[in-house]
Amino acid sequence: MTLTEVATPSTGAPPVDSDWADEVRELARRRDAVLLAHNYQLPAIQDIADHTGDSLALSRIAAESDASTIVFCGVHFMAETAKILAPDKTVLIPDAAAGCSLADSISADELRAWKAEHPGAVVVSYVNTTAAVKAETDVCCTSSNAVEVVESIPADREVLFLPDQFLGAHVRRVTGRENMHVWAGECHVHAGINGSVLTAQVEANPDAELFVHPECGCATSALYLAGTGTVPEERVKILSTGGMLDAARASSAKSVLVATEVGMLHQLRRAAPEIDFRAVNDRASCRFMKMITPDKLLRSLRDGTDEVHVDPELAARGRAAVQRMIEIGQPGSAE
Ligand code: SF4
Repeated sequence: MTLTEVATPSTGAPPVDSDWADEVRELARRRDAVLLAHNYQLPAIQDIADHTGDSLALSRIAAESDASTIVFCGVHFMAETAKILAPDKTVLIPDAAAGCSLADSISADELRAWKAEHPGAVVVSYVNTTAAVKAETDVCCTSSNAVEVVESIPADREVLFLPDQFLGAHVRRVTGRENMHVWAGECHVHAGINGSVLTAQVEANPDAELFVHPECGCATSALYLAGTGTVPEERVKILSTGGMLDAARASSAKSVLVATEVGMLHQLRRAAPEIDFRAVNDRASCRFMKMITPDKLLRSLRDGTDEVHVDPELAARGRAAVQRMIEIGQPGSAE
């Protein structure tokens, strides 16, 4: 038995071996399944997946794949988005309890009540939202195209922006829009990448570049700080996952500080092993992402669990909002 990957002790996940990898591959073949892994998954899960990337890129792959089953190793709203875009496929997530504190910061009922207070307002939702919230949304956005999405709305229309307060503040500052209301949601991970941590790291590593990932909510506070000049602008690169990997391959920097969830370091170190990549906050680890363990992936493939269902009527309404997101500007992805 050959150890192929040893999970870090902090994850609590057991080491995996070549028998595990062989069994996963065989079960996936029998189930006609494609394995998708988000960049913030455990290294062993990223390494066994057919595709690793951010949620939007993975959703697009899900929609275009010939496989009849999608096993989505990520958090629940991402698997839901895959189901919205690929309603005829079976979508599995190895643990349906893998939620997202940002997506959970607003419910469909809360959004309906907010809309009632602002009749006629256009609802713009970050992609980190549940299917039920997407169904109440006019247009979804990613961090990369949030400004363009808001600018595409007539100036005299009120905007309700949710759920991330950091991304909302950034968009309001860039657009200068005063009739934009921002929901006070946040992600527990990005709350840890704060101004003092970022400033201390930048001062301690004066030659390091700073990569800020604008997708998953964990980087939006860093995006906000860069925009306000807390970190010198020329040292900051705001990059999607794919852009971050491309920049890593092209960079001549000896060290790079990475402001995002720590799982991304695995892909970056594989792309550019000669660069010293350091997390801005090495405790910025999403406990929900790490709920997808090697054992649960095996069980998912063996037993067909946990299947993701989205009400067809909700899915149809949510699909329209997601499609509008894809049509406006550069949504940002790992492609
Ligand atoms: S890092 Fe934050 S925004 Fe991303 S999945 Fe985890 S809780 Fe949600």
